[in-house]
Formats: sequence, structure tokens, C-alpha cells
Amino acid sequence: MFKLRRQMFAAEAQTVRAVDNVSLSLERGQTLGLVGESGCGKSTLARMVVRLLEPSSGDILLDGQSVFHGEDAFLKALPGRMQMVFQDPVSSLNPRRSVGKSIQEALDIHNVGSSAERRATVEEMLSLVGLRAEHYARYPHEFSGGQRQRVAVARALIMRPELVVCDEPVSSLDVSVQAQVLNLLGELQKRFNLAYLFISHDLSVIGHISDRIAVMYLGSIVEEADADALFANPLHPYTRALLMAVPVPGPDARRQRQTLHGDLPSPLAPPSGCPFHPRCLEVMDRCRTVVPGWDMPEAGHRVSCHLHAK
Ligand code: SF4
Ligand code: MG
Repeated sequence: MFKLRRQMFAAEAQTVRAVDNVSLSLERGQTLGLVGESGCGKSTLARMVVRLLEPSSGDILLDGQSVFHGEDAFLKALPGRMQMVFQDPVSSLNPRRSVGKSIQEALDIHNVGSSAERRATVEEMLSLVGLRAEHYARYPHEFSGGQRQRVAVARALIMRPELVVCDEPVSSLDVSVQAQVLNLLGELQKRFNLAYLFISHDLSVIGHISDRIAVMYLGSIVEEADADALFANPLHPYTRALLMAVPVPGPDARRQRQTLHGDLPSPLAPPSGCPFHPRCLEVMDRCRTVVPGWDMPEAGHRVSCHLHAK
């Protein structure tokens, strides 16, 4: 239903290749996890998908139509079809508005039903996200972080979108609350047949919720596979390093440490050749000059790294 093609995002005078050469697709009822370090371009990509940013080249397609250049009727209907949940529910909710009013806003703007029906729809959504109808009149500061994120989810779902872009939606929450919100997102996905583009720097969170996972490094996807395959057989040295950083329970978990060294380079001056080469433990001569292409060593599992080139 949803496709991205070769994105590039231009900012100010310089062309910042915040996101480049990204090509992903997603079907209804599925979660595509996008993982990478902060600053790698994940949020830029998320904002492009929901049209908060326009790429300088490339396109984003929903059911085959461009979300930037599609037909008028299609573009008009888009806000109801695609929604976003942000990392920080405090700054994404208006502190001077009751949460019920915030959730109801889109219904009011689009004149969906009578005012009593709109309120009833909001109260029903509050219970679907694990809150109560009487929470309608309360204000954001009266809620915990986890409850506020439930409110943000209710607001994103109130127009019954098909695609929800979740940008680090649990990163600001305690670990115990993270699991509750992830489980809630999973239940709502089944109920409404939602597609999620789920963004996180945390591979254990991504692994919990995703059907497929794309690994992003410095604005490019470097590996993509079904979640199980990616965890069982990570192919890109960057993915392996991310996996090594995930704590493994149990005393026998003697995994070879392959942690990331060095910082993420600036997207203003990306390294030549493979963008990961200055940090890669398996770097070879050609990695410094030749950009790796795509290979698919196993069905549905693609990687951009010279180690896997045929
Ligand atoms: Fe490392 Fe070379 Fe693969 Fe890049 S192409 S990840 S530098 S081995
Ligand atoms: Mg971000």
C-alpha cells in the first residue's frame, strides 16, 4: 500500500543528504521497523512519509499515488489516512486543552457526525487505548507519561487511518511502561488492520513490534529483512554492532563484543565509499572508495555491503 522511492531532502542552501537512496514498502496490518542511531535520518524520513517535509527528489506513494503530487481528492483525504505519533507526548499535546478535545479536534474539523456522536467516538477511543471516558475532561498534566502517550495514540487513530508513523513513541517512557504501550499498539494494529512505520534507535523495541526491519545508517538503508531473519542472521557489520549492544539475558550469553566505535559522521560530509567504513571492523580497501550495491544472499533479506557482494 505504501512505498518510498529514492528520497533526498534539501535544507537551506546546502543539500543535506539526510535521507538518500531509501526504498521501502509496507502493507496493511504490517509493521516495518526502522532502526538506527539518533541523527541517522529516521525522523526526517518519518516526516516525509506524513508530508511534514517534502523530499527534493524521490517520492512517497500510498496505494500507488504520490502523497506530494497525487490527485486533489486523494491529497485531501490523506490526513485521515496517515497519522503520526511522536516521541514526546508532552510537547505534542496542547497543555491548555482537555485531552478529549485534543483527540476530538480532527473529527470537529471534518464535521464527522453530530457533536454528541463525536464525543461518544472519543470516549470509545479512550477506552480502546486503556483510558476511561471520564478522562475526556482532564488535561495533559494530570496524566503519567505512559497515559499521555495513550492519549497521543487515541488522537492519531480517531480518524481511523491506515498508516501510522510512530517516531520513537516509547523512548521517553520507563521500560515497564514501554512494554504496555507496545502491546497496546499491537492490539490496535490487529483491531484496525493498521500499517505501522515504527522508528526507534532501540533494536529490542524494534524487534518486539516489527514484522520487517530496515536498518538505517547515515540516511541510507543498509539492510532489510524479516525481523526473525535479521536477528538470526544479521549480515551488515553495522547491524551486528547494533545487535551486540542489545543486552542478552543469562550467564551463557557469550556473544563476541563488536560494539560501535567512533561517532556518526556529519551528513554534510559523508565518508566516501561505504558510509560505514570509518567505523567498520571489517573494512577492506575497496570500502573506502566504492559505494556498495545491493545483494540478496537469502530470499527477502537484502544488504548493502561489499562482504556480501557476489
Ligand atoms: Fe564494512 Fe566494507 Fe561492508 Fe562497509 S562495505 S560495512 S566498510 S565491510
Ligand atoms: Mg529522531
